[in-house]
Amino acid sequence: MKRLLKNFLPHLAYFYHHLRYRMSVLLITSIFVGLLDGLGLTMFLPLLELIADPNAQASSEKLGNLAFLLDGLRTLGLNLNLNVVLLTMLVFFIFKGIATFFERYMRVVYQQFFIAKIRLDNIQALSNYSYNAFVHADAGAIQNTMSGEVERVMQAFRTYSTMLQQLVMILTYAALAFLASPEFAVLIVIGGVFSNFLFSALYRKTKILSSELVKRNHTFQGYIIQAVAFFKYLKATAAMQGYSEFLRLKVLDIEATNRKMGVLNSIMMGLREPLMIGIVVSVILIQVNVLGGGLSTIILSLLFFYRGLTSLTALQTSYNQFLGYSGSLDNMSSFFNELVAHANTPGRQPFTAFEHSLELKNIGFSYQKNRPILQAINLTIEKNESVAFVGESGSGKTTLLNIITGLIRPESGVYLIDGLPVNDLDIQSLQKHIGYITQDPVIFDDTFFNNVTFWAEHNKTNLGRFEDALRKAHVLAFVHGLEHQENTRLGNNGISLSGGQKQRISIARELYKQVDFLFMDEATSALDSETEKAIQENIDELKGQYTMLIIAHRLSTIKNVDRVVVMKEGQIENIGSYEELLEKSHVFKRMVELQEL
Ligand code: ADP
Ligand code: MG
Repeated sequence: MKRLLKNFLPHLAYFYHHLRYRMSVLLITSIFVGLLDGLGLTMFLPLLELIADPNAQASSEKLGNLAFLLDGLRTLGLNLNLNVVLLTMLVFFIFKGIATFFERYMRVVYQQFFIAKIRLDNIQALSNYSYNAFVHADAGAIQNTMSGEVERVMQAFRTYSTMLQQLVMILTYAALAFLASPEFAVLIVIGGVFSNFLFSALYRKTKILSSELVKRNHTFQGYIIQAVAFFKYLKATAAMQGYSEFLRLKVLDIEATNRKMGVLNSIMMGLREPLMIGIVVSVILIQVNVLGGGLSTIILSLLFFYRGLTSLTALQTSYNQFLGYSGSLDNMSSFFNELVAHANTPGRQPFTAFEHSLELKNIGFSYQKNRPILQAINLTIEKNESVAFVGESGSGKTTLLNIITGLIRPESGVYLIDGLPVNDLDIQSLQKHIGYITQDPVIFDDTFFNNVTFWAEHNKTNLGRFEDALRKAHVLAFVHGLEHQENTRLGNNGISLSGGQKQRISIARELYKQVDFLFMDEATSALDSETEKAIQENIDELKGQYTMLIIAHRLSTIKNVDRVVVMKEGQIENIGSYEELLEKSHVFKRMVELQEL
């Protein structure tokens, strides 16, 4: 019982937090259902009496403290004959029907409300989640929690609200049984408490298995996502075999846990009824043989207990199901808290347009303590300047760009845009002015038009802007050559496109947005010469029209930028034009030589 309460109350708080007054509505309607049912049942006793002797009037002594019911009818001036008793019973059950309808209906409505609220809260929290925290998070767990786990939370609520309803019914029946025959009721309750001890051990086991299952499902999900993401690599290197063997073990593991839970459930299901009936039988025997009471006084109480027993069985079933889902509930709330704990705290100042310069003053950053990734970065970038960042892999180029885009915040130093500290800016209003071309071009499985315009309305103005962007990105002729033109679908992750085409499309998308900044993180892998050409053409063409920051791996692509920043071990080694650096930077000269080999 204590354990039941311990599991019951915190979750009640969780549901109450989301549903508020709606919980009371559910509670009150449940009480009504139970009361009306009980009152209807009470009428069975006078009915039995009248069946034995149809001409008599029903008496009220056998009802114990519920006698007021018949007495009440009598004071209304009614003769307690068969018609009145039957009719009263019918009226109670009609009202119970209405209450049941209302209770069920509200439950469905609130269930939908609850789940929609969880989904919306999660989406909101995810969109505020800081990038810093995201890079350390488990992407598989996030995906799984926001999709599959939500379903399980809904099941948790469904089973919990059934439980709540059954609990209310039990309490109502117990109260009625107590009114009818207090002595008998107390004995039954004692028996019930004993039987509960037996079940609690089984419950505990189920609970542990349930949270284990959640964890296993998560890791499994994560591995599946990676199997899809790295499909090509796994396939090409014949590593898929080993990987699927590994996945097979995970599946078997999950299966075994599920089976264990199934066994526990079956044991409980089988045990429950014989145990309960055993208790009732013993209590009747005690009542009659030891306490010397008559059977007639306990009939009504027994009737309520029998009814309560049905609810108790249902309660234990739903409690057990609920335990199976409760792991998800804990998981969902800790997931949500984690998102909220790492929410962005943007400033309030809106960013309207880039006017003069970006200034990085003595910027430092580290992902982990005592392992500085960036140190003492000092750099000023003027509007419409084009700046390339070069340096060994791991020298901090991407991290620096992440700081400049506002994805992560520097740990030390000051970052100013047009003289304003970026921390004071509403970061999203700044990011709307940023075009970002990532290492892996982002291509959606949708049409050319939607990929570039981000699902803008297909009208004349937008089409004009669309073509403009394509022209600037040197991809217009390609699109015009296609059978379905801008309505051609690009396939899963742009599978039907070459690397260069993907690059040009993702540049076109940024140009369509009418941004101030263009940031580019070139692919680290060797670019094919077509892609390399695409990038170089785009850079040369767009230079001077946008403030461009380019992380370059192929140095040929950045021959014409205004300035090149050479990064080394998280610091700026040198800054200058391509030609200047060949003279003055050792590191740069060596990089160029290596690439010309
Ligand atoms: P570059 O782009 O120049 O190759 P990065 O900025 O990506 O370099 O990385 C710089 C350093 O920061 C590397 O040593 C890398 O291991 C580390 N690093 C990058 N991202 C993370 C992260 N999310 N968590 C911890 N360390 C990271
Ligand atoms: Mg990088």
